Amino acid sequence: MADVQLLYIGGEWVKSRSGKTMPIRNPANGEVIAEVPDASTEDAAAAIDAAHRAFPQWSSLPAIERGRYLLRAHALLEERKDEIARLITLENGKPYEEAKKEVQFALGYFTWFAEEARRVYGEIVPPPVPHKRLWVLKQPVGVVAAITPWNFPATMVTRKIAPALAAGCTVVLKPASATPLTALAIAKAFHEVGLPPGVFNVVVGRNSSALGDAFLSDRRVRKIAFTGSTEVGKVIMRGAADQIKRLSFELGGNAPFIVFEDADLERAAEGAVAIKFLRVAGQSCICANRIYVHEAVHEKFMPLFVERVKALKVAQGFEEGAQIGPLINEQTLSKVEELVEEAVAQGAKVAVGGHRLTSGPYAKGFFFAPTVLESVREEMRVAREEIFGPVAPVMTFSSEEEIIRRANDTTYGLAAYFYTRDLSKAIRVAEALEYGMIGVNDASGYTHEIPFGGYKESGLGREGGKEGIEEYLETKSISLWIS
Ligand code: NAP
Repeated sequence: MADVQLLYIGGEWVKSRSGKTMPIRNPANGEVIAEVPDASTEDAAAAIDAAHRAFPQWSSLPAIERGRYLLRAHALLEERKDEIARLITLENGKPYEEAKKEVQFALGYFTWFAEEARRVYGEIVPPPVPHKRLWVLKQPVGVVAAITPWNFPATMVTRKIAPALAAGCTVVLKPASATPLTALAIAKAFHEVGLPPGVFNVVVGRNSSALGDAFLSDRRVRKIAFTGSTEVGKVIMRGAADQIKRLSFELGGNAPFIVFEDADLERAAEGAVAIKFLRVAGQSCICANRIYVHEAVHEKFMPLFVERVKALKVAQGFEEGAQIGPLINEQTLSKVEELVEEAVAQGAKVAVGGHRLTSGPYAKGFFFAPTVLESVREEMRVAREEIFGPVAPVMTFSSEEEIIRRANDTTYGLAAYFYTRDLSKAIRVAEALEYGMIGVNDASGYTHEIPFGGYKESGLGREGGKEGIEEYLETKSISLWIS
């Protein structure tokens, strides 16, 4: 019997108003792991009501007290971190060891923003005339609707709700319909530490566009914080225009991974495997999407890379040593398969992998073999679109100027990586790449302390770092006439 969950609205656990539910399935084997309410726009409206009612009191609490709620929830979730990781593996499919790392990282946003809440400073500004005094205040934006994807069911939630709550906003969260269980477990922790009713609400439903419209059309929702595809980001941006809602977006990517001729090739191969394959089987917005190797080292680099990819263990998430889990659903799997087949038909060569895994332990899940493609050309879809799967297209280049031009020739601009031992080149290339996040000899991801976000169609605004809380604040200028 699958676990039955409820929505979290106004500090209470409730069924959807329609009484409808939907199953949550494990993408590794298709089993139903839980039933959750299938919320409608009425549920979204109730959650907005609750968040709106809670706002005056929550926003007037001293920041240090708001921070304490985050710290208490953090402590409780720390105790439950293995349980949360288990939920992530069940609903998302990623290997349990990887899920544990995600939980640890996700919880770090609670401590970071609990501390940042106390550093939301205003300003006293020198006036241009003697009879005036000027100052600038920061105030919370209001009710925030947060919409999150399935690939990091914990991190995508905490990176939004922690700064929002710390800033004094109240939140209605709509997690991805594939992975709502982690979000509900986070809500449970807030409930147990006594967060005032309505400050944080969770609605889950499969009609995401109707729920999105409910947020967009309600004037009490002042901001939408969205992580997901660029396509849906554009729909939300258009919808937000009517009420000029505040927006912050973390969208898709097409990250270049560049290996220069003077790189440490062992480290570069290690880094390429980590950032291409070992993050949710390639289903991360900052995964390397195009691998460029200087022609002078291509022959040396390929065996180092391909051997490591061959050694990766594809398995169900709880199996010992699992490194690559399933993709999230059939649609994602088919798209990856289609991109590979199309590239091969256009002349790409499969160095390893290249196909679905369909027998034995893979029979009921959405598994794709870790794949390296050679002889890829820039115009192929596999090099232009976000792959979102364990497929590494490799291309060569011959000069720094050429590779900067090619790396920047995309509508995306989230993350980029390159390997070199030349310090001057490292500075030149890092400054020339049109991306929000650059890893120089570093493909290990990012940390809470620096901002996360993209250029161009990869996003708007930043999460994390000291910028993260700014996204949830308004600036008020006060001018006082003194006599
Ligand atoms: P998605 O289809 O855009 O969905 C993301 C979220 O938006 C889900 O909660 C989804 O609900 C909801 N949604 C879908 N259509 C909507 C609509 N019309 N109005 C309001 N909400 C709507 O993206 P995804 O496939 O889940 O996630 C993968 C994408 O996210 C990739 O492009 C990836 O690069 C991007 N991503 C970016 C970052 C970053 O920080 N830049 C991080 C992670 C992921 P349902 O689940 O119910 O459809």
